[in-house]
Amino acid sequence: MKGHRVVLALGANLGDAHAALRGAVSALADNDDVEIERVSAVYSTTAVGGPEQDDYLNAVVIANTSLAPHALLALTQSIENLWHRTRTVRWGPRTLDIDIITFDDLVSDSVELTLPHPRAMERAFVLVPWADVDSGIDLADVDQSGVVATKLVLTIAPQ
Ligand code: ADP
Ligand code: MG
Repeated sequence: MKGHRVVLALGANLGDAHAALRGAVSALADNDDVEIERVSAVYSTTAVGGPEQDDYLNAVVIANTSLAPHALLALTQSIENLWHRTRTVRWGPRTLDIDIITFDDLVSDSVELTLPHPRAMERAFVLVPWADVDSGIDLADVDQSGVVATKLVLTIAPQ
């Protein structure tokens, strides 16, 4: 597929988080406008910011898409909604979060779609799984204090 290279960060810590991540990857894989290139391992991470909450499962997906940035955002939000994602507490627990970390080399400062993703971009829960699937990510300078990212033996890639 000729298209845009995107990096997506998936996170979940409410309900069956493993099922949510697996479901998100297969929903992306099922979409004709998205071709999955790599799926990272799943990591268990301690929550950063927000109220006290359970640990997260996090993973990163590298994909190619023919969708324009806002169409991709609409797709990822519709997949979040499939998992009954509700937005109550900011940075509170969620059944599924899909953030667009990068979209080609696009830079955007709109509130609706900020690229590269401003917060996730520097966080260990994104960078550790990202480094798994992208040799260009260097973890040497990443502040991993307070974040325990444990690699789990869970499969989310479509079989
Ligand atoms: P967060 O992921 O920051 O905890 P949400 O998932 O609730 O919070 O997203 C809040 C808003 O962030 C969304 O409505 C979306 O329009 C906006 N947003 C801005 N940039 C991005 C991005 N790069 N990826 C995903 N959502 C983004
Ligand atoms: Mg989000």
